[in-house]
Amino acid sequence: MAIREILTVPDPRLKEVSKPVEGGVTDEIRALMDDMLETMYDAPGIGLAAIQIGVPLRVIVMDLAKEGEEPQPKFFVNPEIVETVEETQPYEEGCLSVPDIFDQVERPEKCLIRYLDYDGFKVEEWAEDLYAVCIQHEMDHLEGTLFIDHLSRLKRQRAVDKVKKAKLRAMRENVA
Ligand code: ZN
Repeated sequence: MAIREILTVPDPRLKEVSKPVEGGVTDEIRALMDDMLETMYDAPGIGLAAIQIGVPLRVIVMDLAKEGEEPQPKFFVNPEIVETVEETQPYEEGCLSVPDIFDQVERPEKCLIRYLDYDGFKVEEWAEDLYAVCIQHEMDHLEGTLFIDHLSRLKRQRAVDKVKKAKLRAMRENVA
């Protein structure tokens, strides 16, 4: 396992549409998911899409365990949203690719998802609460959409500028 670099805005790769994994869940895909999980835990975050480490494949890892709970890693290969309910809920979202920015996004409060798990088994289940928020956020990444794309243009531009400035500052501190 290895910790990979997480891409941040405005890296154009984050706008790419990820491709489906062909040929099922192989050892290569599992190795990718292991790296993604380690990278996510290190960040730390609760969800990560492969494109966030520059791999344009439809793969997501997640762990929604609360502090003090045993880890509950979840792995999603070729996930699909089969159905969503009409009711929406707002949630204050953040993203490892848009560090230190948080804002409310309104999404369907439940969704039926279908995916292949770590062992390649097909799973179909309803996601609700934080699980529903997180899987929809991560699946947006597969389409090249970030949570800030759900905000107003002004808020989005401000978020990107803030991340850029923070990156420059960090670079200067490293040089000094
Ligand atoms: Zn994200």
